[in-house]
Amino acid sequence: MRIAMIGAGYVGLVSGACFAEFGMQVHVVDAEPSKITALKEGRIPIYEPGLDALVADNVRDGRLEFGTSLDAAMEGADAVFLAVGTPSRRGDGHADLSYVFAAAEQVARAAKAPIVLVTKSTVPVGTGRKIKEIVSRIRPDLEISVASNPEFLREGNAIGDFMRPDRVVVGTEDGPVGERARELLRRIYRPLFLMETPIVNTSLETAELTKYAANAFLAMKISFINEIADLCERVGADVHDVARGVGLDGRIGRKFLHPGPGYGGSCFPKDTLAVARTARDYDSPLTLIETTIAINDARKGQMADRIIAACGGSIAGKTIAVLGLAFKPETDDMRDAPSLVVVPRLVEAGATVRAYDPVAMDHAKAMLPEGVIYATGALDAAAGADALVVLTEWNEFRALSPQTLKKAMRGTVLEDLRNVYEPQTMREAGFSYRSIGRP
Ligand code: NAD
Repeated sequence: MRIAMIGAGYVGLVSGACFAEFGMQVHVVDAEPSKITALKEGRIPIYEPGLDALVADNVRDGRLEFGTSLDAAMEGADAVFLAVGTPSRRGDGHADLSYVFAAAEQVARAAKAPIVLVTKSTVPVGTGRKIKEIVSRIRPDLEISVASNPEFLREGNAIGDFMRPDRVVVGTEDGPVGERARELLRRIYRPLFLMETPIVNTSLETAELTKYAANAFLAMKISFINEIADLCERVGADVHDVARGVGLDGRIGRKFLHPGPGYGGSCFPKDTLAVARTARDYDSPLTLIETTIAINDARKGQMADRIIAACGGSIAGKTIAVLGLAFKPETDDMRDAPSLVVVPRLVEAGATVRAYDPVAMDHAKAMLPEGVIYATGALDAAAGADALVVLTEWNEFRALSPQTLKKAMRGTVLEDLRNVYEPQTMREAGFSYRSIGRP
């Protein structure tokens, strides 16, 4: 089985390496030559735990290769996967499909034999049919079957999620052409089949919408618990106990009920916006999702206000240590991270920000305002700070000794926006400690 994977980003690279691990012959192409050069030299252009070893093993065993030539990648391929980006379109929040459509055109020109073209990128309802139209317009002679196979992996745990998913969703066209794609994807995902992973076979439109519905629901769950956390603070309740008491109900589930500074990342913000726009276009508004987006957008700014309030109402001339910049731990992804709102607000309000993130600082430097000081470690960030803010719950921050941290700082304000510390321990260490939704 030969697979061509278009896009060597978080999804393309992980999926490609995992398919190779399943035993398939995988050729990953990317339009950015620097990424391919890095991969060929054994360097992984993104931070994802375990990916370096997985890639190295499969390259060594001859199942995984990289290049910039789509022609070479498609040579003899049984399936071509699209894993290019679908960011928000500037201005209106719709998914920007220019990379997807450009890749579809390239596939049409490169194809030498009948193809099954599978979209892994998150794309709005109707995109699969448009891809088919594009390819068929350029190559009316070509036999093509399109499929939708949305990806549900999480950055930071991407390999585990890909290898042991809760389900695989496969959307195909009607009739024999759809059956061909369905059968091929069944063979590709056979190793998961053996683990009894449910395969949800649907139409193209259903598969495309399923991905957005899943992300919108998870985003809604986060905004829900964030609002409950705010209420907990007012009434003196503990949001972790509320979340446990609620989440143990099997109809609700315990995951994604952890409060914080608002969701970020490369998926939830753009996907909630895109599905809300799609719904408006079809005159079937998703008001729950629109409200979720508004809550989350406001929340990041509220976190900055909260830090300023904890510092007595003004941070002009003060030094604030920020621990964590990536949108979540175990990734270097900065896309839509809360830090992108919080840090600029702190700088605007006159603070000196000393920031530290174990892996995301290179990306952060290009996205955060000038003047932010990048520290060499958590304690270096805390050195001389009036206040300390935890923005991302990296494990290494959990392990810090409260006494050492306190000694490094000038002030005592600790705003723990990820609830990584025990309130009592931090108060006993002398911190003026606040976390989210806990008394
Ligand atoms: P990414 O930006 O990390 O990677 C996309 C890659 O595609 C880039 O390296 C880019 O250079 C390459 N590319 C673009 N056009 C190309 C072309 N014509 N030919 C070859 N390469 C091309 O994006 P990502 O985070 O991997 O996301 C990809 C898709 O998967 C998106 O639709 C996203 O919504 C979806 N998704 C992402 C995640 C995630 O956690 N990142 C999870 C599930 C789904």
